Amino acid sequence: MAPRSKKQLMVCRNCHHVVDGEACVTCGSTNLSEDWAGYLYIVDPKNSRIAKKMNIDMPGRYALKVR
Ligand SMILES: [Zn+2]
Repeated sequence: MAPRSKKQLMVCRNCHHVVDGEACVTCGSTNLSEDWAGYLYIVDPKNSRIAKKMNIDMPGRYALKVR
């Protein structure tokens, strides 16, 4: 494997939360993907239509699509 020049952010496949460590802080899942698209920053989930659509109830960084 070639060394990565820059650390790729991982996204939880379960809740689409962007994860810094090895497990998701929101749901505790370790089912992570580095193949994702559409960076989303949810500040106020209660007043965000996209947050409702994605069932997000915590502020934070999310990905729109995770493969
Ligand atoms: Zn999660």
